[in-house]
Amino acid sequence: MPELPEVETVRRGLLPVMEGRVILQAQVNRPDLRWPLPPGMAERLTGARVETLRRRSKYILADLSTGETLLVHLGMSGRMLISGAMLGDFHHDHPAPAKHDHVVLDMEGGARVTFNDARRFGAMDLLPTATAAAHPLLAVIGPEPLGNDFHEDYLAGRLAGRNTPIKAALLDQHLVAGLGNIYVCEVLFRAGIHPARKARDVTGSEVARLVPLIREVLAEAIEAGGSSLRDYRQADGELGYFQHTFRVYDREGAACHRADCAGSIARIVQSGRSSYFCPQCQR
Ligand SMILES: [Zn+2]
Repeated sequence: MPELPEVETVRRGLLPVMEGRVILQAQVNRPDLRWPLPPGMAERLTGARVETLRRRSKYILADLSTGETLLVHLGMSGRMLISGAMLGDFHHDHPAPAKHDHVVLDMEGGARVTFNDARRFGAMDLLPTATAAAHPLLAVIGPEPLGNDFHEDYLAGRLAGRNTPIKAALLDQHLVAGLGNIYVCEVLFRAGIHPARKARDVTGSEVARLVPLIREVLAEAIEAGGSSLRDYRQADGELGYFQHTFRVYDREGAACHRADCAGSIARIVQSGRSSYFCPQCQR
């Protein structure tokens, strides 16, 4: 399932072919994804210029010249494919339409952007740009972890008195946007905090460490995604899925990465999700 860095990588990959460009032709091949697609979607997209392509949590938002914003959520298996345009040094011809190509956008400049989603847990909607932030999916989301509203005082306030494990608190999208299971595991490892520790028992100095570590872990992953863009363009035009190495995630039984630690990575299940951590250096 794509997490924030993957979605940001997709957004950055789409920028050069979508932002500032007109959607010459939109093709919508089914009435629904996870939810029904908006009525007249193809007509509402065709002829619109993408003014800005931004991200909020794991949603990609294309603000259009028509006063509407196209919201895209990749869900579990949604993929964005680019074909036809000059992409760096590589050129992809439009492939034959494939099964699960649900929405196809032919862009000014010659690129075709295809949303393919075999499992259809993805979503698309069209919302008035002026009130997009109030959309039920977006209104409930906490501050962006890479933005200015997420800082030490904010996090300390939100963790204070909270009886849930720190792992669950950081996964809570009301508290901070877009942090998923993989990256929370990595952050807690770097912070030396056991995932089952109660949020209220995280100390002030640990909170002070957490904020920059959250930014660091996400920034590293976005960087890895950026450097993968070129490779993926070369491969098949698919954006956003890249190999990234993790220090604890999915490493149960492997040696701890810390040079001065003889421990090995353990796994526990919290709220149905696997938590990977080093019992030696996370307390
Ligand atoms: Zn360790």
